[in-house]
Amino acid sequence: MKVLFCVSEAVPFAKTGGLADVAGALPAALRRGGLDVRVVMPLYRGIARDGLEPVLTVERPVGGRTIAGAVRRGTMPNGTPVYFVDAPELYDRPGLYGEGGRDYDDNLARFAFFCQAAVAVRRDAWTPDVVHCHDWQAALVAAYLRWERDPLPTMFTVHNLAYQGLFPAAQFELTGLPGAAFAMDGLEFYGQVNVMKAGLVWAHVLSTVSETYAREIQSPEYGMGLDGLLRVRAADLFGVLNGVDYSQWDPTVDVHLPARYGPDDLGGKARCKAALQREVGLPEHAYAPLVGAVARLVSQKGFDLVTAALEGIAAMGVQLVLLGTGDPSLEAAFRAAAARWPQQVAVTIGFDEGLAHRIEAGADMFLMPSRFEPSGLNQLYSLRYGTVPVVRRTGGLADSIVDVTPETLQRGTANGFVFDAYTPEALLATLGRAVAAYRDPGLWRFLQQVGMRADFSWDRAAGRYRDLYALTAERAARWR
Ligand code: ADP
Repeated sequence: MKVLFCVSEAVPFAKTGGLADVAGALPAALRRGGLDVRVVMPLYRGIARDGLEPVLTVERPVGGRTIAGAVRRGTMPNGTPVYFVDAPELYDRPGLYGEGGRDYDDNLARFAFFCQAAVAVRRDAWTPDVVHCHDWQAALVAAYLRWERDPLPTMFTVHNLAYQGLFPAAQFELTGLPGAAFAMDGLEFYGQVNVMKAGLVWAHVLSTVSETYAREIQSPEYGMGLDGLLRVRAADLFGVLNGVDYSQWDPTVDVHLPARYGPDDLGGKARCKAALQREVGLPEHAYAPLVGAVARLVSQKGFDLVTAALEGIAAMGVQLVLLGTGDPSLEAAFRAAAARWPQQVAVTIGFDEGLAHRIEAGADMFLMPSRFEPSGLNQLYSLRYGTVPVVRRTGGLADSIVDVTPETLQRGTANGFVFDAYTPEALLATLGRAVAAYRDPGLWRFLQQVGMRADFSWDRAAGRYRDLYALTAERAARWR
């Protein structure tokens, strides 16, 4: 089976979050299973052009002007072929979606052109059996296929319902779609253009990145205004938890670490902890529980709970190492915390792949108090690094982290600490339970071992996607 994977970021070429990790690893896992999967993505600044082979030229009117671009073929280091959509006026910029916390004004034009180029690849370069689109940036592919009466089976995956691609109605013409597509059963959404709806309405099969999130987004609480539509499409909506690329995220092979370790010998983890404390400027206390966090600092991730709980966290005697960037007010709050508790709180504002790995390895616990979390990758990485997750029960966190209770300990499934209420008190109580467990070396070692031995590899998820592609082909045949 041949699958064209349309996505706006992929490791190692461009990354702002988990989507890039998925797009870097899932196609390769599917290819190992015998599928021919190829990726189409924009050619951003910083992606090396050497060795890319021209495949197509693409000229499309976008609004009042014609954008001239090209498609160039390259390869991921893991062997996955990539079609890069090259249009310097749209993609040769410092950011992927924006700069300095502001989205680019012409994002609708940028991703409308990208989707048209992806359709051109399907027409003129390579004929897939299924097209798999990811998030709003690739959603218009489903609209173009539908309005051009192209029967190609289409699957759409929501990696985060919070980013829907909302634009003023006046920009609708940039899509190049007929006016009839700007309707309630199309892209119209309370008077605005909602690009993600193209995928949700016209793809034959929908998925999201955990089973719990697939249920949650059908409720008003998590549905971001789209829960009604998602309930209508419930029979076509599936949840598949993301996997981990263990060639990148495993402490036995991780190139970013000062020492390697595995489940049978955790000595290297102690060295990683000491090195991390030195790196971020905290006292090298081997027995201080070290809490790590790496995240986009946005309201989704729940760090307002952490800032509200900081006094209590400091009083527990833990050390907190945070890496993140995003909302300026959260950045300022954490900078202030680091200034107030220099012996206990270390904050790095920025995006640093190597430090993200060293925090996973050097921390004892990993904190994810998310308001919502479609899949979450960091808790899965943490398990493999023997870093016990402390998480809120939502989305993919609920599907991967099993709270420590007498029953789960007895069953041997306990692998972390989980709280329900979105309150600083619940966070503190659960962190307190984790710190108490940390003081019991036998129990702690057991939790680490359960986590490190768990298998969240992509091969498992790839099997589910293969089934969903078959289902997409079946449903598309019935729609015709
Ligand atoms: P999301 O996709 O919502 O950002 P995930 O947990 O699924 O959340 O994936 C986040 C990915 O981005 C992880 O690989 C994480 O290490 C990485 N990441 C997030 N923020 C940073 C940062 N400031 N520096 C380095 N890596 C980061």
